Amino acid sequence: MATQLERANFSTCMDLQKADIYIVNTCAVTNIAERKSRQTIAKINKINEKAKIVICGCASQREVKQFCDYPNVIAVIGSHGKENIVDIINECKKEIFEIPCQYANMQFAKNIRVRQFIKIQDGCNNFCTYCIIPYLRGRSRSRDLNDILTEIKQSKASEIVLTGIDMSDYRIDNKLALTELVKQVDKLNVRFRISSLEVNVVTDEFLDTLIKCKNFCPHFHLSLQSACDETLKRMNRKYKFDKFKHVVSQIKNKFPFACISTDIIVGFVQESDVEFQTTYDNIESLPFSYMHIFPYSERQGTAASKMSGKVSKDVAQNRVKKLTALAEHKTRAFLRENINTEHTVLVEAHKDKKSYGYTENYIYVEINDIIEIGKVYKVKIKDINQKSMLAEII
Ligand code: SF4
Repeated sequence: MATQLERANFSTCMDLQKADIYIVNTCAVTNIAERKSRQTIAKINKINEKAKIVICGCASQREVKQFCDYPNVIAVIGSHGKENIVDIINECKKEIFEIPCQYANMQFAKNIRVRQFIKIQDGCNNFCTYCIIPYLRGRSRSRDLNDILTEIKQSKASEIVLTGIDMSDYRIDNKLALTELVKQVDKLNVRFRISSLEVNVVTDEFLDTLIKCKNFCPHFHLSLQSACDETLKRMNRKYKFDKFKHVVSQIKNKFPFACISTDIIVGFVQESDVEFQTTYDNIESLPFSYMHIFPYSERQGTAASKMSGKVSKDVAQNRVKKLTALAEHKTRAFLRENINTEHTVLVEAHKDKKSYGYTENYIYVEINDIIEIGKVYKVKIKDINQKSMLAEII
């Protein structure tokens, strides 16, 4: 959207800076995300009461009405049609565009110097019972390989992050093709990450391909959601805990310092104390580096919203607390394991005569020197700091 606007002679900025027109890209994945989208509109009205506001994204796709009555909202368009953003601003459309069956190609994203997100796929066919995304984003569709590679070649970023809703379902000629995609991306000689994977796609062949990639950053985000088979079944997740555990051990065998992160939902419908304890105990046995823990958020229209046996908010919050304490313990263990090991860090910020950035295995480090933003340096991690690790250039 920023690229299209700049081509049409708008000047663009990010976040809540003072501007004449704001585009709020809303999220519907949880109730809280949706509430934050509405709060953003209220904040904009305080920054510039004459601003024009355009609403897009999944929350507006789910319910257009919730955004129409805000003052200054000139257009509400849902998750699709962003390729027409200039016309939308000019014509003030309050309509939801149809979900496309094919991947809708857009102009390449605005060039970013440090880390650029490159979308490879949209939509999802999995219908996890708690999730509203397939209803809002439509069925899975993959972007043309050459279009992806051309955008990466034209990017000036030092790191690429491949993204999508269900990247594991990336296809070429209707055949699963994530392995082929990473082989091709690796040839472009820019370091790259994969934002998120379903466990079923992490086969031996896939890991052997990644090991041969010179530019792959060993950071695996594998959404587990629950570590109890009964809960996973009700969630319509398509694996059992043992499978997940096996994949994690394969990753650690091949990439001993890999960062493995995950998402967990607690307090899902009918999750008993026994099921939660199973999840807790099973997670304890896994070497997660980072865990994002969410209380279950009911989304109207999903299969889970029609199930009986809701877990109370207090019980869910208590479970979040317990798992968060375990997650913090695991993160510290991961960081400690990395002391005195060598990594590459992409520098992305300066503050107080220090430089900051992420290692290839996603550790945020502080370097006691001003070095060039956007460059990759070899470092040795020396110690744990409060919010980052201390590292020295080698
Ligand atoms: S895989 Fe499941 S959780 Fe992820 S987007 Fe698809 S339906 Fe939602």
